[in-house]
Amino acid sequence: MDKVWTEMYEAAKAVLGGRTISDYVTAGEVSAAVLSKSGKIYTGVCIDTCSTLGICAERNAIFNMITNGEYEIARVLCIPPNEGKGAPCGACRELMTQLMPGKYKDIEIMIDYAEGRIMTLGELTPEWWID
Ligand SMILES: [Zn+2]
Repeated sequence: MDKVWTEMYEAAKAVLGGRTISDYVTAGEVSAAVLSKSGKIYTGVCIDTCSTLGICAERNAIFNMITNGEYEIARVLCIPPNEGKGAPCGACRELMTQLMPGKYKDIEIMIDYAEGRIMTLGELTPEWWID
């Protein structure tokens, strides 16, 4: 595993931490870091609300990247609860395929940081409706 993954992990770890924002909103149980094609790291946390207005950490990090004027993802790393392992949900995969049609299959996803297990989005979504 190269040091960029470590930098991404440290960036995601820096924003990780559950917090109660109001009686209806919590955030930060999951955090994520996205590496853009230019080499910048963008972070995001999950936001959970009572009526499904929230967002996954991965999509929040991707939106942070878009907010800052970048549109191509190279890598995605997420720190799930208890720092376990996990792949992005269907909504996050869908966003990545729509953002980068023809290119999304090369996005690298950290599945298990402790084990250094990495998969591409193409491996995770072999028969998506977008090529
Ligand atoms: Zn998701």
